[in-house]
Amino acid sequence: MLNLVLFGPPGAGKGTQSERLIEQYKLVHLSTGDMLRSEINQQTELGLRARKLMDEGQLVPDEVVIGIIENQLDNNASAAGFIFDGFPRTVAQASALDQALSARNEAITAMLALQVPEEELIKRLLERGKESGRSDDQDESIIRNRIQEYENKTAPVAQHYEQQGKLHTINGLGSIEDIYQRLTNAIDAVKA
Ligand code: AMP
Repeated sequence: MLNLVLFGPPGAGKGTQSERLIEQYKLVHLSTGDMLRSEINQQTELGLRARKLMDEGQLVPDEVVIGIIENQLDNNASAAGFIFDGFPRTVAQASALDQALSARNEAITAMLALQVPEEELIKRLLERGKESGRSDDQDESIIRNRIQEYENKTAPVAQHYEQQGKLHTINGLGSIEDIYQRLTNAIDAVKA
């Protein structure tokens, strides 16, 4: 299996690049943000619990997203691999993911970490907010909260994979095509 963590702050381009990468490498896209928004749309109990935190730009509890991911691993047992997008977002989630994969005789192949300066992220998210319909993209103070949550809780996840020799940093500035090329170069190098 080819199991990739596409990592980076909100607005780094993870969703856009994931869509192209799953086509190229025939992977299953697991975006916890998309899955949580779908729970909200379906007005499930889980969605109702997550909504307030998401609207404030805070992370939802680890056990909620870990449970969602474990279900997806089981539902896609014959997949060629996964792209994890927006997960893991804490070191506890990263450890839980390592364990869940190892219980299935699998492991993360590589983390691809997109690097984009903060002012560019805010510009991109406000732009996206005009069309995404996402309430958490509309308001600059919520966007700043999300970036703060990223710095405090999520950035350390990169060290977790660096210690495993799996961290690849990718310049996230430039055209979608340029960034895609950088990602595929890195993936082809680890795949070979
Ligand atoms: P995203 O679509 O990845 O930007 O996620 C949108 C929101 O969903 C985040 O601001 C969090 O509130 C929540 N969320 C998504 N993935 C996670 C995760 N792995 N851990 C905790 N909260 C998450």
